[in-house]
Amino acid sequence: MTTLAARPIEVSAPHRPTTMRALIKHHAGTELQFVSNRPVPTPGPRDVLIRVKKVGICGTDRHIWEWDAWAAGRIPVGIVTGHEFVGTIEQVGSAVTNYKPGQRVSAEGHITAWKDYNSRTGNAHIASDTKIIGIDRDGCFAEYVCVPEENVWPVHASIPDKIAAVLDPLGNAVHTVMAANVSAKSVLVTGTGIIGLMSITVAKAAGASRIFATDLDPKRRALAKKLGATEAFDPRDDQWIADIRKHCRGEGVDVLLEMSGASTALTQGFEALRNGGTAALLGLFGKPVTFDINKLVIFKGCTVLGINGRKMFETWYQMEELLLSGRLELEDIVTHEFPLEQFKKAHETMISGEGIKVVMAVN
Ligand code: ZN
Repeated sequence: MTTLAARPIEVSAPHRPTTMRALIKHHAGTELQFVSNRPVPTPGPRDVLIRVKKVGICGTDRHIWEWDAWAAGRIPVGIVTGHEFVGTIEQVGSAVTNYKPGQRVSAEGHITAWKDYNSRTGNAHIASDTKIIGIDRDGCFAEYVCVPEENVWPVHASIPDKIAAVLDPLGNAVHTVMAANVSAKSVLVTGTGIIGLMSITVAKAAGASRIFATDLDPKRRALAKKLGATEAFDPRDDQWIADIRKHCRGEGVDVLLEMSGASTALTQGFEALRNGGTAALLGLFGKPVTFDINKLVIFKGCTVLGINGRKMFETWYQMEELLLSGRLELEDIVTHEFPLEQFKKAHETMISGEGIKVVMAVN
């Protein structure tokens, strides 16, 4: 039997450090820098300070890592990057009434002042004054992140951290699929990057009858089929468009979800779309594209939707319902996890294509 030694009295007062570990865009060039002395943000009266647990690395973070023309023109040097995360509320501002410390949360990263036309009419995701965390202001590749309480999303207890860390891109996929109204329709997904793959499992869960996909990478095509695609085509062989038409009453698919941001895929996708179909465009193009609007939009009589972000917060509720339904297959999409300190390896794993969705553990 052991002797119980007297223990020192534990003081329960919070002792949050004043500095934190973080990844910052330290110069107008490539990569990020790991620092351990970034000041912990101080929440304003209506802000929530969140202790970050896990973060997702996005395609946007790749642009920032590689410091391409878009990043150079948009990202302020010195900010903490990252916008996909799950964490626990550490502290709330004096005017916050909806949340309390200890709650597990994620957040909508698009921050608006709720003053412009779209914010006040149910379309805050396309507000003219949007500031995005990790892009326009400090983000979540850090031990703590601060957001307005309106942006906080409480995460359901049954959703694991690994998935809760990537609700931002999953929300992009859900918004695209729901906007295009895929139930009982044939769907073509051009480009099976992270959000393209997510949109396949979302479209299947949302009742799409058949899902076709295109991608240059045979591994991604195989995964697309595993996630529910009826058929996945190599877009370099033009024959696939005739094949899709043959499968779809000789006319083409009902819905196109453009996820590649490649001009060839854009044209091919619209060629495979039936007259009167709906196209939802999410993939971002590296430069302006040449596209036959007469033939592919006007004479087709199709509907074209530009998709940006996630609806606040309709998409988040839809996403939670889909996750709780158990019908989303995300295990094969979130492929790697590294500690924050291995950020270099984490980014390289994503950029090389070896990893699909790469997550970093912060706390
Ligand atoms: Zn993202």
